Amino acid sequence: MERLALVVPCYNEEAVMKISSEALRGVLQDLIKKKKIAEDSFVLFVDDGSKDKTWELIEEEHRLHQNVKGLKLAGNVGHQFALTAGLLTAKDCSDVTVSIDADLQDDVSVIEEMIDKFHAGNDIVYGVRKDRSSDTFFKRFTAQSFYKLMAAMGVKTVYNHADFRLMSKRAVEQFSKYRETNLFLRGMMPLIGYQTDCVYYERKERVAGESKYPLKKMLALAFNGISSFSVKPISLITTLGIIIVMLSFLAAVYALVSYFTGHVTQGWTSLILSIWFLGGVQLVSIGLIGQYIGKIYIEVKQRPRYNIETFLDKKESSGNEER
Ligand code: UDP
Ligand code: MG
Repeated sequence: MERLALVVPCYNEEAVMKISSEALRGVLQDLIKKKKIAEDSFVLFVDDGSKDKTWELIEEEHRLHQNVKGLKLAGNVGHQFALTAGLLTAKDCSDVTVSIDADLQDDVSVIEEMIDKFHAGNDIVYGVRKDRSSDTFFKRFTAQSFYKLMAAMGVKTVYNHADFRLMSKRAVEQFSKYRETNLFLRGMMPLIGYQTDCVYYERKERVAGESKYPLKKMLALAFNGISSFSVKPISLITTLGIIIVMLSFLAAVYALVSYFTGHVTQGWTSLILSIWFLGGVQLVSIGLIGQYIGKIYIEVKQRPRYNIETFLDKKESSGNEER
């Protein structure tokens, strides 16, 4: 039976720690009783440099309960990094991980379904929100525009999926080969490949405490998501440049007609022609340079170029096959 690790990033979550720990331990016990996971499965709380009592509470939970582990980061690095730290630490002592927020907004009761789907052969199971009725109109609107913009920019993401997700050990291992520093996990997971599935749930209100994702952080995450995955904005410059060069020919006709028919101030025609034409040429040139920078950008990420799922080889495929 597989050992499950529930990975929970926590930043200033003293208000929810106790409730969260109890709920998550409950999930583990239930799954252990149903013989779906191994008995030494555990919850791993990652303290992302909290300034309140979060770490003390984690220490206490660890003291009181055998299946609670704690990882304290040296400073606040943000949710995406804290989660990565948790996943990479958990992978060495577990077979499957589920990442979930500390505030219990994600429905813990679907973890069982995730495990079932994992046993059915999926390496990644995405938790997808059924509806966003618990969100404010503003959050709903901004979030949905964000997914649409991402899709338009050619970044593959799972619609309405945040970071509530099951990953097998080998999926986390593949993920660890993506060594980029600008993390946008939701965009990276679909790059890993393997068989994936979704479970659907209703996202609830926070049990206690306040959101650590103010608008500023949300916008930063959105911009990071696009700029880490897409060089399309650069192509847009080139396209704009080409459009302006074409417009400059129209402007040329207009300027010349004005010159020959009207009473234009001396010097206007040549000036206006230069502005349009050179403006366009400059944009095309910047875009062109941008294309190369875009390639350099992709190269320096040194992402794996492919991930191997299975290798059929007579000598090794006898006996028990690796999962
Ligand atoms: N979080 C974190 N580091 C941060 C900010 C948030 O580890 O710098 C954690 C936080 O404790 C929570 C999760 O990330 O478990 C999601 O944050 P939050 O619930 O505040 O975001 P929201 O659900 O409002 O988008
Ligand atoms: Mg939350």
